[in-house]
Amino acid sequence: MISPDDAGSVAESVKALKLLERIDTRLEEKANPLKEAILNPNTFCVTWEQIPGRGAFEIQQEHVFDNIRKAAELGGRIHAISVTDNPGGNPAISTEMLCAEVKRIGTEPLVHLACRDKNRSQIESMLYGLAASDVRNILALTGDYPSAEGFEGKPKPVFDMDPVNVVRLVEAMNRGLEHHAMGKKVALAPTDLFVGVCVSPFKQEESELMAQYYKLKKKIEAGAKFIITQIGYDARKYHELMQWLKLNHFDIPVLVNVYILPYPTAKMMNSNKIPGCVVTDKLVSELAEEAKAPDKGKAGRLLRSAKLYAIAKGMGYAGAHIGGHGITPDQVEYIINKGEELSKDWEKWIPEFDYPQPNRFYLFEKDPKTGLNTDVLAKRASKSQVPFIYKLSRIAHVTLFEEKSRVFKMLRPIVRWADVSPRAKAVLEFFEHMAKTALFHCLNCGDCALFDVAFVCPMSQCPKNQRNGACGGSYQGWCEVYPDKQKCVWVQAYDRLKAYREEHSLEEYIVPPCNWELWQTSSWINFYLGRDHTAKRLGIKPPPNKPKK
Ligand code: SF4
Repeated sequence: MISPDDAGSVAESVKALKLLERIDTRLEEKANPLKEAILNPNTFCVTWEQIPGRGAFEIQQEHVFDNIRKAAELGGRIHAISVTDNPGGNPAISTEMLCAEVKRIGTEPLVHLACRDKNRSQIESMLYGLAASDVRNILALTGDYPSAEGFEGKPKPVFDMDPVNVVRLVEAMNRGLEHHAMGKKVALAPTDLFVGVCVSPFKQEESELMAQYYKLKKKIEAGAKFIITQIGYDARKYHELMQWLKLNHFDIPVLVNVYILPYPTAKMMNSNKIPGCVVTDKLVSELAEEAKAPDKGKAGRLLRSAKLYAIAKGMGYAGAHIGGHGITPDQVEYIINKGEELSKDWEKWIPEFDYPQPNRFYLFEKDPKTGLNTDVLAKRASKSQVPFIYKLSRIAHVTLFEEKSRVFKMLRPIVRWADVSPRAKAVLEFFEHMAKTALFHCLNCGDCALFDVAFVCPMSQCPKNQRNGACGGSYQGWCEVYPDKQKCVWVQAYDRLKAYREEHSLEEYIVPPCNWELWQTSSWINFYLGRDHTAKRLGIKPPPNKPKK
């Protein structure tokens, strides 16, 4: 006989089975046209970027909705509509909501996910929300620094994660994220997110450029599935990126950013008012001439975009990411048609994309025949001068923070004792904070990343707290947020390490996001006792407890 309790548990099990079946069915419905297009070497993938504005009921949003609808009518020529996330650091209607609408209308969406405004929990919840709505294509970005246009002033910059760690999170979710609930390890159902990243080869200085490539390497090794370039108009740089990927044996699809460039926007980019977008003086003066035409240069800029599309296709790029303010579906269609036609003679258009910045560093020697690159690496100037503080930090590090050093072994029991003695701990914390504030402007994050950035603190010196490499916003080596005032921390780190021929160490390992559980605690104690990310990476275990007598 079945008791009422047994009957209840049978009913629960049947219900759970039905729910699992429903999850299985949803997971099976996984056709992702963007993923298929990007990964298919016989398809030249086209995405079209939409830039939503602020507010719910505005003309700009209606244009976006119109574009989405018309893109769906273009018979699959546009493989995805991408939607920017609070573009330029300004508040805008949510990209998730618009992307769900793109999906509903029948086109594949590509969600821009900027790390600027969300902490890791919010990023995770956004990603699960998107996965549950069948929106699976993500473009992980650092994001421009917040503008002053927030409600009642400038918003707090978050930057809790960087794109490298967002890619790691997505990969963990795709495997089935493991976490602890009620003291047990549980794994969530795997998602099917398809994540891409950005890179800018359009950097002037060697240090800036290498910081981009080193970070890109980390993004790819973390699991990025595709790349979209930053805006630029230098064919040799586009070629350089492909050469760098080949040199590093990375087989990953890349889309060229085909931005339809009008004269007023070109002037803004030229004066570094739109971070990371490089337009040289020569190109601006050509656009100024073009703008004098009766159509204000419209035909010229569309043709230029089609030629860039053609070059991208000829060079072996996987597709084009078309963007620009106020562009129409007809214009996008024109670029695709004309670009396809021109791609047969793509090499012919290379001289028209010869806009180098003055003294720009190229990774490879120039090929005078093609105007592109040979496969010979360019000579790099050596570096010998480093700040005294850096030399001192290196000596201190080897003496105090190398596990094999005698001082480390000697100090470890003392640090363990200090950790449980409130008075000793307070004294140690005080001295550490005084020294590190004076030397590195330390903020006491407790999960010290000085060693990862050649002793330049990314928490106090980088406004975006980048722990894995430079954001895309640096300009001529200067920080996006402090142009002409402060060099990017990754430029400083590269120059310091280069003097010791150790610059490659910047690409060697991924730094996890700061562990905020350690906030305002002693990073020295955390390192010695195996609690921070560096100790974990180096395998420094917490010291064993003394056996009780
Ligand atoms: S220091 Fe470098 S990585 Fe940090 S915000 Fe400035 S430009 Fe970006």
